[in-house]
Amino acid sequence: MAETLTTEESEAFALRCREVLESLAGESGGEGLDDAKWWLGQVAEAGLGGIVYDADHGGAGLTKAHDKIWRQEKAKFAARDGEFVISHGMCLPVMNDFGTDEQKRTFMPQMITGETMWCQMFSEPGAGSDVASLATKAMLDGDEWIINGQKVWTTLAHVSDYGILIARTDPEVVKHAGISMFIVDMKAPGVEIRPIHQIDGGKHFNEVFFTDLRIPKDWLLGELNNGWNQATAMLMYERVAIGSLGAGSAISQPMTKSLINAATKNGRIQDATVRDELMKLYAMESTKAMVAMRARAEVKAGKAPGPGGSLGKLASSEISWRYREIAQAIQGLDSQAWVDEGEPGHAVQSRVLNSFQAGIAGGTDEIQRNIIGDRVLGLPRDISVDKGVPFNELKTGSAS
Ligand SMILES: Cc1cc2nc3c(=O)[nH]c(=O)nc-3n(C[C@H](O)[C@H](O)[C@H](O)COP(=O)(O)OP(=O)(O)OC[C@H]3O[C@@H](n4cnc5c(N)ncnc54)[C@H](O)[C@@H]3O)c2cc1C
Repeated sequence: MAETLTTEESEAFALRCREVLESLAGESGGEGLDDAKWWLGQVAEAGLGGIVYDADHGGAGLTKAHDKIWRQEKAKFAARDGEFVISHGMCLPVMNDFGTDEQKRTFMPQMITGETMWCQMFSEPGAGSDVASLATKAMLDGDEWIINGQKVWTTLAHVSDYGILIARTDPEVVKHAGISMFIVDMKAPGVEIRPIHQIDGGKHFNEVFFTDLRIPKDWLLGELNNGWNQATAMLMYERVAIGSLGAGSAISQPMTKSLINAATKNGRIQDATVRDELMKLYAMESTKAMVAMRARAEVKAGKAPGPGGSLGKLASSEISWRYREIAQAIQGLDSQAWVDEGEPGHAVQSRVLNSFQAGIAGGTDEIQRNIIGDRVLGLPRDISVDKGVPFNELKTGSAS
């Protein structure tokens, strides 16, 4: 199929998207995740699920130009599939890039329809920013891999059916070279999931323990010991997914609007200092939206997301902490106190309490700055003390 669309084709496709979105807008598939799964199922049934993926793998088999139009139209409606940002924004493209044809036929259709949800299992207690120091082991035993170790901060593991795991398959080479990627059935014996309780009462992420977990040999995803390159590709997708969250085609400022609302209700909207801060936030959000549009345009042009995705990710984080500061100036202690969903003040409180995540999830701000420095601006790289040292000779985790 041609990668570019005529004006007529674009308009006809946009109309089709709008009709499907409008028909679903008034209907519900239940609460939260149930609704997200139902909505994705309906979208797939209408031929608009997994737009760019092959029809043989459950996708719509359309072009990136179609995908762009779909995202533009989708952004005009309330988001229904936010909880699939990891499953669809990261796991799906990685499966598409690295999976065998059989893996893609087996897993992608149900991923696309939302029937299965996926999580990402990279971080460990001793390996977060430096995830290549991970210690979870995978050993081949006949036709199966045996996995032992622990992951942490695994978003939505407790509601996921499958996960993408990175584990150590060769400890005798340098740390980046001995890692492989696997598919894990989250409900299999040997997987224990313990929720982490959050400051706002939510439980979105988890510790995941593997004790003699057995997975089929052919659930190795991609090449043996190429897991680091694949994980890097997944992190790039992650940064674009996070950096583009809530960003549609239009240049929008949802955080500023939320605070304008709060300032109006609190009688602070005429305060010159508050107005000044709101304008700065407005400018940051507008710029972030444009950076996200550029990142998506690059993907549309056939480029894999590059280190520039870190710009959008970093901007999201800075916007979150600016939001926190301004909310405190407007609402004072009321910006951190807790009232239930639906009650006045809840939306701001929820954003303030969750604002700390933005500078950590998907790689901390410091790491994004390192990436932008090294790989976008071409500055000298950070000193690497473990260059050339095999993993089993490194002082990682509790080793001294
Ligand atoms: C909301 C949320 C969801 C998450 N979801 C997932 C998930 O689904 N799957 C998953 O695998 N992980 C997930 N994570 C984990 C996340 O990727 C890690 O928390 C993150 O990479 C940081 O690792 P760490 O917590 O071990 O901190 P550390 O790496 O221990 O960092 C501690 C501090 O040191 C700084 N630092 C570390 N190295 C450097 C350096 N080289 N230069 C400068 N400063 C440095 C960091 O910036 C940070 O301030 C999630 C985290 C959060 C908050």
